[in-house]
Amino acid sequence: MIQKMSQPKMSPTNAKKPVKIAVGYGDGIGPEIMKATLKILKEAGANIETETIHLGEKIYLAGNTAGIEEAAWKTIDDTKIILKAPITTPQGKGYKSLNVTLRKSLGLFANVRPVMALHPYVKTHFPEMDVVIIRENEEDLYAGIEHQQTQDVVQCLKLITRPGCEKIVRYAFEYAKAYGRKKVTCMVKDNIMKLTDGLFHQVFDEIAVEYPTIESNTEIIDIASARLAAHPERYDVVVTSNLYGDIISDIAAEIAGSVGLAGSANIGTNVSMFEAIHGSAPDISGKGIANPSGLINAAIMMLAHIGQRDIADTIKNAMLVTLEQGYHTADIYQEGVSKEQASTQGFADKLIENLGKLPKELKISKLSEGTGEIIIPEYVRKQEKQVLVGVDAFINWQGTDPNIVGKKLDTINSFKLKLKMITNRGVKVYPAGRKETYCTDHWRCRFVAMDAKIKEKTPVYEAVEYEQIIALLSTLNQEGFEVIKTENLYEFDGRRGFSLGQGE
Ligand code: NAD
Repeated sequence: MIQKMSQPKMSPTNAKKPVKIAVGYGDGIGPEIMKATLKILKEAGANIETETIHLGEKIYLAGNTAGIEEAAWKTIDDTKIILKAPITTPQGKGYKSLNVTLRKSLGLFANVRPVMALHPYVKTHFPEMDVVIIRENEEDLYAGIEHQQTQDVVQCLKLITRPGCEKIVRYAFEYAKAYGRKKVTCMVKDNIMKLTDGLFHQVFDEIAVEYPTIESNTEIIDIASARLAAHPERYDVVVTSNLYGDIISDIAAEIAGSVGLAGSANIGTNVSMFEAIHGSAPDISGKGIANPSGLINAAIMMLAHIGQRDIADTIKNAMLVTLEQGYHTADIYQEGVSKEQASTQGFADKLIENLGKLPKELKISKLSEGTGEIIIPEYVRKQEKQVLVGVDAFINWQGTDPNIVGKKLDTINSFKLKLKMITNRGVKVYPAGRKETYCTDHWRCRFVAMDAKIKEKTPVYEAVEYEQIIALLSTLNQEGFEVIKTENLYEFDGRRGFSLGQGE
């Protein structure tokens, strides 16, 4: 079954029907830049109908810890599209981040951030830069599952799922196709995280072959971030997981010199939200001097998303003309380059005067030349044979010599399960560890079927029953070991579903 993204189709029967948009005016400079942006949308002829939703500081301070009025959810259910100005999260405990709430509860899985240089009108070392970062928005370390397990050790779970990878990678290729982009680069760290980042890379390779006209490659995130910072013009569309994407999208915006100018989209299967990347700027709020371009760029992305790409191009090109004419807000004003320091509304009014004109030097926006809707197929789970072959029992032990705990665990025999190795912070320390390896109070003890043997250097594991693991844990408990967590070891269609210890 095909699942379409939330873009209303512009067919002859509904072409005149305005698209409903939920609008959040936000806090600080939010209302000023939203007013300017909505005026531009109206003057450019955007076929939309807006409905205000109440969210942000006032709602928080009225005692709603989520920062969004109940009625707003109903409006969002109805419109499925949100244009949101930045909000202020009050300091102090108990207030939840509204952005995280919206992202997670609405399933906004893709964060899309185009970053383009506007040289020489906005200072940058990279005049040719024109990159779109597509960041997975729901998974990875941002699942927020953290535990302190011993006095020394805290843990954060990195969750990467096949459906999550398929959705974001497919979205990146579909985006490239729909917006006429030539290349998609995947950024991962699968030389270290072979299972989690390895899955992201594998899914990327699987999906890339379905788009033979789009060039694709994979780079290791550390060197890729350095290259992005040094040669951003070499990248076109980048797709990556949540944490890496968070970092590189800020790097990209910063080196383009345009943190205050960048817009972003948070795309979900049913609902999508568009906003500027900057915050509510309380220091300049109420002065009428904020740059509205970040929110205008977000609105341009929204128009492209709802199928009004011609209007999106008209607004973008008028914005570029206004910048070329030298009407610059205070944040980007440059002596000798700028003609006039524009106010928020002054910039919007100049932009409106320029609707219909094309920039002379800056790259003309041609969103309308892209084709097609973005289509994400529903996830289909392939059935694999999942076989239990052992367990990693994590033990809280305050000693320092791995041989003491190792020799004691060697004597434990529970059905077929027997100690294979002990690691500390992932490094094998028993049997045959090195005395230099520093050990904390957190010991991973791997138990597998006793008759596990080495066959052509690859361990062959025997299937075990879960009852045998329970019996093992019970024995460990009776012997005085404190098991603070366990991870079952599985094979999937004969493929090992767990990493080896370093030095195993
Ligand atoms: P900020 O982005 O609001 O401001 C950082 C600096 O950039 C300030 O000097 C500000 O004056 C300037 N600036 C930001 N946008 C500008 C614009 N459009 N024109 C001209 N100058 C601009 O970041 P902050 O000060 O760290 O955060 C302020 C508040 O915004 C906080 O409450 C924070 O939680 C919130 N915030 C909200 C969002 C959001 O709603 N999406 C995002 C980031 C921060």
